[in-house]
Amino acid sequence: MNIYITQQNLNTLIGDLIAQGIRVVAPRLNAGTPLYEPLTGAAEMITDRLPKRSAKEACFPVCEDIMTYKKEGQKVTVTDIDPARFPETVLVGVRPCDAVAIPLLDAVFSWDDKDEFFLERRRKTTVIGLACTSADDACFCTAVGLSPGETKGSDLFLTPLEGGDYACETLSDKGEALITAHTTLFSEVSSALPLPLAKPYAEKFDLKKVKAWLDDNFENPFWDAIATRCVGCGACAFVCPACHCFDIVDEGTEKAGKRRKYWDACGFWKFTHHASGHNPRDQQPKRYRNRIMHKFKYYDDKFGQTLCSGCGRCIRVCPVGIDIAQIVEEISKKQE
Ligand code: SF4
Ligand code: SF4
Repeated sequence: MNIYITQQNLNTLIGDLIAQGIRVVAPRLNAGTPLYEPLTGAAEMITDRLPKRSAKEACFPVCEDIMTYKKEGQKVTVTDIDPARFPETVLVGVRPCDAVAIPLLDAVFSWDDKDEFFLERRRKTTVIGLACTSADDACFCTAVGLSPGETKGSDLFLTPLEGGDYACETLSDKGEALITAHTTLFSEVSSALPLPLAKPYAEKFDLKKVKAWLDDNFENPFWDAIATRCVGCGACAFVCPACHCFDIVDEGTEKAGKRRKYWDACGFWKFTHHASGHNPRDQQPKRYRNRIMHKFKYYDDKFGQTLCSGCGRCIRVCPVGIDIAQIVEEISKKQE
């Protein structure tokens, strides 16, 4: 059963959560750029634009300390950063293409050696998704089997109604708990109709065909043809809700310093640069091939899903106009 929340009550909910010391992260403008960032008040939230970067930063920051060290005389002290200190977080207004990518990261960060930094943040995060009512030319969630009303990855899911209120669907215990704690802000009746959802790029890719072609074409002149112009800037990976590569770097001096975790990108020349000097991905097409292989073959081999939600961000930011949707479409046609 759907319940409903008015825009005013959603603002009250955000204000109450902030007053309780909970970190509320939502789309807001930072010097004119829409980004998912912590709010200081409900009035900062915007709902009419897809943030330029994804929501993954709430659980997987661009950079974080994982330990510090200090040397005094012969004594070395190493202090781990305790993930228990991470704040309770409510992510509000998360677009379906971002929310759906969070479980894709769960699978990676809980596989084998568990990443407690990601997982502790994740345990403490409640996701309130928001259906999309507008799309641009780069959006293609429907082509990878999703939709502007996709609820996967959300604990609560809001659908905008005519007049500015929302229908609210409960999808998990976390969502249920949030509603129970703020039950007076929700109602069981509304006569308003849902706004029409966005209509992104319509044609669905045959992802099985794409994978079948990738299975057989690790070596193919196609990679050179599409990727020689890639400049290896890494922007596509950094804005992507599903990319999750990182590096561990020690920073400091002999006396004191930090071990830090930073986002990394397979488009970077140094990503696979061995200490010996050898680099198995020594040309940009090999690096771009890895990006496509990882998203449409390797992740599927391991976890049975595609590592792309069709958000279109990598298309919007690529400085040389590389369009992953066109590339995947081209690959699917090759398999016919
Ligand atoms: S690969 Fe591109 S379109 Fe797909 S989820 Fe990442 S940024 Fe979005
Ligand atoms: S954003 Fe474009 S140029 Fe930069 S690494 Fe990605 S594909 Fe290459």
